Amino acid sequence: MTLRIHDTRTGKKVPFEPLVAGKVGLYICGTTVYGFCHIGHARKEIAWDVITRHLRASGFELRFVRNITDVDDKIINRAREEGITADEVARKYTEEMNVDFRALGLAAPDLEPRATEHIAEMIEIIRRLEEKGLAYAAGGDVYYSVPRFPGYGQLSGQSIEGLESGVRIEVGEHKQSPLDFALWKGAKPGEPFWPSPWGNGRPGWHIECSAMAHRYLGERFDIHGGGADLIFPHHENELAQSEGAFGAGNFARHWMHSGLLTFGDVKMAKSVGNVITIRQIAEGHDLEALRLLYIGVHYRSAVSFTVAKDGQQRPVYPELDEAEGKLEYFYRTLARLAEAPAGDDKGPVLPEAEKTLSSFQEAMDDDFNAAAAVGHLYEAFVLANKLLDDPKAAAKDVRRRTLARLRRDLLKCGETLGIFQREPAAFLAARRDRQCARKGIDAAAVEAKIQERAAARASKDFTRADEIRKTLAGQGIELMDGPTGTTWRVV
Ligand SMILES: [Zn+2]
Repeated sequence: MTLRIHDTRTGKKVPFEPLVAGKVGLYICGTTVYGFCHIGHARKEIAWDVITRHLRASGFELRFVRNITDVDDKIINRAREEGITADEVARKYTEEMNVDFRALGLAAPDLEPRATEHIAEMIEIIRRLEEKGLAYAAGGDVYYSVPRFPGYGQLSGQSIEGLESGVRIEVGEHKQSPLDFALWKGAKPGEPFWPSPWGNGRPGWHIECSAMAHRYLGERFDIHGGGADLIFPHHENELAQSEGAFGAGNFARHWMHSGLLTFGDVKMAKSVGNVITIRQIAEGHDLEALRLLYIGVHYRSAVSFTVAKDGQQRPVYPELDEAEGKLEYFYRTLARLAEAPAGDDKGPVLPEAEKTLSSFQEAMDDDFNAAAAVGHLYEAFVLANKLLDDPKAAAKDVRRRTLARLRRDLLKCGETLGIFQREPAAFLAARRDRQCARKGIDAAAVEAKIQERAAARASKDFTRADEIRKTLAGQGIELMDGPTGTTWRVV
């Protein structure tokens, strides 16, 4: 089966054929760097991280460009608040973004151009648009003339007439049509500016991406992506600018959009006051669990995130806690698989273990359906546990080979999804520490009780040993006796 992708413009899934065989050019709209990244950013970045990992794992030579928007009203406002320059704001929050993105396990893009380093390219496109009669200067600004571009609305599925009825020209704007948007904004006092044929000023947001995509991917490239909130107006405007300047069909061949993060029906937004940063989550949770939660929902769908309060009025995130529980099950199984006796690779395995890789690939090739792919991995984990629990579940050699195969395939598929790549022991220890901290459990006291129980057992005082086990169970602590001693976990 070949890769199929969902194209926003046609609303259909289509077989993916790159412009140049074996190569993919991908442009994603990046972050406007004026504050700490939140878990909505994480939703988008993880979706695209999985898409790019799968493209690479499928053998495509990928050129992944993700820009940084480092000039914008929000950055300028933040600079005023913090009493530093807009450039300092952008650099500071780019650094913070990189810290968060590394913590999320995101593979870095191949190119990460900054808007302010591509002003000349933007001016060049605006100049072309002016020559073609698609742009006009007015009141120190330069605007794109939407009614003169016949394809406007094709990406978001709207008509110019329908769009026009919903907007009007504000006082002080010099637009010819209410849909027209700024390509270049005349300099205002105290704002960063660059010289241009239309006087000092700064670029509009949309032109940045047209210019950087053109510079690094050429006139035509395979996929333009971003969050679904960018379809209109940002991507509609980018398309109008680029095809307006370079000719119809000369921009992204496919458009893809990732779903958003919602709190029930409410969008996450500063104005609503419900923004949760990646760092806030990292304080008490595992970011790999956040990844698992997100990839469990198709990348095009919205992820619903719930915030509740515990007895001490601390925020709790039920979906995230559930995902972390699943991740514990996965890592615990991987730890057991690593300890299982190694099997040689030659010879048959159980038929159920043959299909992990192929069913995973099939799901991912169906428009990157990571949720279905995780479902297939879950089946493999269940099979692994069945075999680990019951040495008689299969002939000895077949069992060993099957366990070895399952482990290998699970780790390989996990790499494409960006999960299961840590040492299981490290994950499990960190998870237990977090649970102890949250529930107020003293790990040293638990260890002491386990020692006491071992001594009781050694002196055949099984009543006392059982009492200790029951007391600990009452605190939510489960003991697991194994050949190398007793281990424990918080349940
Ligand atoms: Zn963009």
